[in-house]
Formats: sequence, structure tokens, C-alpha cells
Amino acid sequence: MDVKRLRHDSWADNSKFMAERVIPLVDHRTAALPVPQAPATLPSGVLRDARGRPLRDLRISVTDRCNFRCAYCMPKEVFDSRHAWLPQAALLNFEEITRLARLFVARGVGKLRLTGGEPLLRKGLEALIAQLAALRTPAGRPLDITLTTNGSLLARKARALKAAGLERVTVSLDALDDAVFRRMNDADFPVADVLAGIEAAQAAGLTPVKVNMVVKRGVNDDQIVAMARRFRGSGVTLRFIEYMDVGATNGWRMDEVLPSAEVLRRLQAEYALVALQASAPGETAERWGYAAADGRHDPALGEVGFISSVTQAFCGDCNRARLSMDGKLFLCLFAGQGYDLRALLRGGADDERIDAALVAIWQGRADRYSELRASHSSDAARGRRVEMSYIGG
Ligand code: SAM
Ligand code: SF4
Ligand code: SF4
Repeated sequence: MDVKRLRHDSWADNSKFMAERVIPLVDHRTAALPVPQAPATLPSGVLRDARGRPLRDLRISVTDRCNFRCAYCMPKEVFDSRHAWLPQAALLNFEEITRLARLFVARGVGKLRLTGGEPLLRKGLEALIAQLAALRTPAGRPLDITLTTNGSLLARKARALKAAGLERVTVSLDALDDAVFRRMNDADFPVADVLAGIEAAQAAGLTPVKVNMVVKRGVNDDQIVAMARRFRGSGVTLRFIEYMDVGATNGWRMDEVLPSAEVLRRLQAEYALVALQASAPGETAERWGYAAADGRHDPALGEVGFISSVTQAFCGDCNRARLSMDGKLFLCLFAGQGYDLRALLRGGADDERIDAALVAIWQGRADRYSELRASHSSDAARGRRVEMSYIGG
């Protein structure tokens, strides 16, 4: 594997990072898995991977840049002024993204999520959304198109995003307390602006808005109940995400994970909650609804979700593929390498060739990292993982 450091300083400097438990970045972007040979016959029905899982959800990362430096994702000691960002020419352009999305949709994808980095930093994103919104499933249905954002530019952009064809947004917000929030985004960004973004998204009809809160024990777990109080009955679904060992730079430790069961226990000390059914197969969040006085779920009060990829693996029905901004296809959030679809696109491959590659890649997929976490936890395995800011959440 062609592994290259992105920093200009020497390995001797590592002690500084290790002391802070931040690990220097290994560049996964130059390495790629060879695209497998096309199968002799292409399936005509549902495309399934080696574990029988269909392909339903494509997450498209549109930029490697971000204006936040959340320590769990892009620690600023690693993603600093010396970090080598991808040049514009390396990024898939909107026509390339749309062409790939069309081929994925023909193979069963019905849901697209734009992500990053911070997707709203990608210039002209509305034009991409409009192109994607024009796609139809084989049954002629429009796609479910959504976007995950840190919310910093949302107040400005919500209406244009909706007009372009975006259906919904998920906003990441880790605290209501301004000081805690500024510490977590490590860019001194005020919480009020993200809250304004959430309100603008609701006003623009990008609903139902979801809010993702990554919970780190001892960092923002004192915000759990305040966040629930703020969003209960507001039309926003708050989802608690276990701090994950994704990437290789965040110095993840199990003792900083607050298990979802503990988050639920703290919420139940304040509110009556009832378990709800999963909304769709492959849904990542376990849902709990706020109960009315009669003990039944009151839809007006809404619900909360728990994404527990550390304590409760959900690989069994994982139907998600991830496309990086430079056109690599990843089959798991915890993968170390992706398949270089950009080389196919720019090498002149026709649609049939690219479709055959998608089929071969998906049929060979056996990933189930979260189920195998315990046996993968060595530092060596961690060093091979791609960063979340590269393939999105
Ligand atoms: N910048 C956008 C944002 O923050 O919403 C989109 C990209 S971000 C990588 C996507 C999601 O990944 C966010 O909700 C973020 O909180 C989550 N995330 C990043 N690193 C994580 C980690 N180590 N554990 C759990 N969630 C993480
Ligand atoms: Fe940026 Fe999102 Fe990562 Fe935070 S989680 S650093 S906002 S990409
Ligand atoms: Fe899917 Fe990989 Fe996460 Fe399992 S660990 S749910 S296979 S992305």
C-alpha cells in the first residue's frame, strides 16, 4: 500500500501527538483496492453482498475540508495549516458524481446522503442537489436526498438547498452550552448560529430535521438532558451517537464512550419514554418516543434515537456504501481502502463497465467491523482506517 505522511514534520515529533493522544495521519487517499473482474452474469434483481445485504443507501462525501475541528473527527493538531488538502482537480465534479449516483440507483440505492468534511463548503452544492434530485429509481420514484452538516452555514443556505431539491437535513450539534460547544468544535464557533441554522431548516421545510449529538464521557455528557429538553416537542429528532473508534487520529479510548444504555437511563430519570419500531430495515438508530400521561407515545412530543455502533453492532443489515470526494468507494465506515471509481470514470469506462464493477465490488462485500471490534482493536488495525472526514458519517 502506498502510504504517505501528510505532515511535513518528522516522525520525531510524534511524542507531542502521543502525549495528547492524537495520532498523526496516514494518507489513505493514494491507495486503492483493485476493482474486481466483472462477474460472468450480472444479476437482474436485488443486488446483494456476500452476507445477503442489499445496497440501498449511498453516502457521498463532497469535500475533505471543514471549518470545525471536532477532536473526535479532525483534531486540529493533525488537520492544521500544514495538512495537504485534496486539490480541486482530484474531486469528482458534479457530472461525475451524478453519473455514479445514477448507476447506484439503477442497482437499488434509493437514499442519498451528502456529507464530508463539511458539505456546505462545497461551492455550488445546490447545482449538484438539483442534478441528483432529477434521478429516478427503476420504479420511477424520486430519491430520498438528505445532507449531514455542522449547521454553521445552514441559516444562510437552507432555502436554496430546499429549492434545489434537498428533502431533509441532519445537523450535528454536541452541546447547548456555548462554552462546551465551542470547545467541542475547537473553532470557537458559537452555538447560537447552529441553532439559527436548525430553525432556518425547519422554516424552509427541510423536515423532519434530525440533530446528531456525539456523546463523549466527561466532555459533553452533562448536556444530554439539556439537549433533550430543548428539542422535545420541537419537531426535531435528537439522536445520541456513541463516540466511535473511526479513523486513526482521534486517540479513541473505550472509557470515553458513554453507552447508549446509560444515556437512556439518564433520560428516563427525567422523561417517560417508550420503545418504538425501527422505521426502515437497515435503520441505524434505535428509536424511543416521549410518552403522554397515558403512557403511550405522543407524536407531538416526538422521539429520540440512539446510534450505538460501539455497544450494539448493527452490521447485520448494513446497506450503506460510501463514496469519497475523490471517487473511491468504501464498503464500511471502518475500511482502510476503497475502490477507485474515479480511475474508471476518467479512464473512459462506459456505463456497462462501471455497472459491472459496482456489482462485483458489492457482491464481494463481507465487512462487519462493528461486530468484530474486539478482535480489531490493536493499534496496527487502527492505523489502517480511513478518516471519517474523508468518507463522511
Ligand atoms: N461535517 C458534517 C457534520 O459534522 O455533520 C458532516 C460530516 S461528519 C464526519 C458526519 C457525522 O459524523 C457527524 O454527525 C459527526 O458528529 C459524526 N462523527 C464524526 N466523528 C465521529 C466519531 N468519532 N464518533 C461518532 N460520530 C462521529
Ligand atoms: Fe467537521 Fe463534521 Fe468532522 Fe466536526 S464532525 S470536524 S464538523 S467533518
Ligand atoms: Fe456497516 Fe461497517 Fe458500520 Fe458494520 S461497521 S454497520 S458494516 S459501516
